Amino acid sequence: MATSIPLSMPDISPREIEAVVDALQSNTLSIGPRIEQFEQQCAQVAGRRYAVGVSSGTAGLHCALMAAGIGEGDEVITTPFSFVASANCILFVGAKPVFVDIDPRNLNIDLGKIEGAITPKTRAIVAVETFGHPGGMVELEQLAHQQRLTLIEDCCEGFGGRIDRRPIGSFGLAGVFGFHPNKQITTGEGGMIVTDDEAFADSCRALRNQGREGTAWLSHQRLGYNYRLGELNAALGSAQVSRLDEILENRRRVANTYMRRLMANRYLILPTLDEHELVSWFVFVVRLNDLFAAADRDRIMDGLRDEGIGCNNYFPPIHLQPYMIERFGYAEGMLPVTEYVSARTIALPFFSQMTEHQIARVCDTLEKLLEKTLIKPTSRF
Ligand SMILES: *Cc1c(COP(=O)(O)O)cnc(C)c1O
Repeated sequence: MATSIPLSMPDISPREIEAVVDALQSNTLSIGPRIEQFEQQCAQVAGRRYAVGVSSGTAGLHCALMAAGIGEGDEVITTPFSFVASANCILFVGAKPVFVDIDPRNLNIDLGKIEGAITPKTRAIVAVETFGHPGGMVELEQLAHQQRLTLIEDCCEGFGGRIDRRPIGSFGLAGVFGFHPNKQITTGEGGMIVTDDEAFADSCRALRNQGREGTAWLSHQRLGYNYRLGELNAALGSAQVSRLDEILENRRRVANTYMRRLMANRYLILPTLDEHELVSWFVFVVRLNDLFAAADRDRIMDGLRDEGIGCNNYFPPIHLQPYMIERFGYAEGMLPVTEYVSARTIALPFFSQMTEHQIARVCDTLEKLLEKTLIKPTSRF
């Protein structure tokens, strides 16, 4: 069998390796100059005044909701079509996630359905640029402003993207990036909160560092956490940001090759692009059309994996995760667009160093499997 093609892979150059070795030799492995430098770089990418480095995207979202004062009794509107962390952070602070269905074009929260979900308890919106697509963020920011709701961007999938001149991460009170190895840039594990609000940034800084507000190590002004980002991770992140243009350009090349290659396939719906919106490609997700059901999609994924091609069903609906059903009693049919889309999505291998040959192999295999699955329908009635 041909060598396998992973779903994702970080882009690590000698520059990153050198930066981490330098950090190791500096003897300052926590709270040093590297996190500060990395924070400044991220603030610049997001067009924000302040950035606070944290140990993961999830930790950043938790801090952001706490610092925004969201808590017990509050409702927070969010998308059900995402990685679970965007909803979990709402549960962490004791608030209730209220899921609003998605726009089938950009797969982000449907702006037209938000007002119907607002109640007297609604305090905030946690919005996600799904798969790095910034569609709708400008209008969403206006809507949040009109409704006096706090907007927090879970921009973990959108580092480096923008709408016209507005970077992803610049909308609302704060944005949170994630740097897990499957993201555009990585710190191994890590995240970054970005904001223009100084008091909010200070609050996040205290929360990530055991509730310390000054430099005294054993003086804790409030309950805090250890959500710090280490110097080794920050060194890696810093070197990655310095290569951001190159990394994003390569990801764009891979996405464009996929688009050109799959554009004419009648069974697939490809990502929707708008000329004002610069997607920061996080993953490359295709959707099967309505000739296919979820079971067909699963068989196609099995077929891809049998050929050594990594893939996944990004994303199953959050409201239908077992712990959500148990806690809130949600059932299928509640958010039809999300459920329809998520039954038919496949994330294909996607990374900056992917070769034309690898892309061709993925596309050929996928197209063969699409034909084969339609000829032998097992799941339709
Ligand atoms: C990756 C991701 C996160 C954060 O993930 P961590 O692994 O905690 O860094 C949060 N939200 C979304 C939408 C993500 O894709």
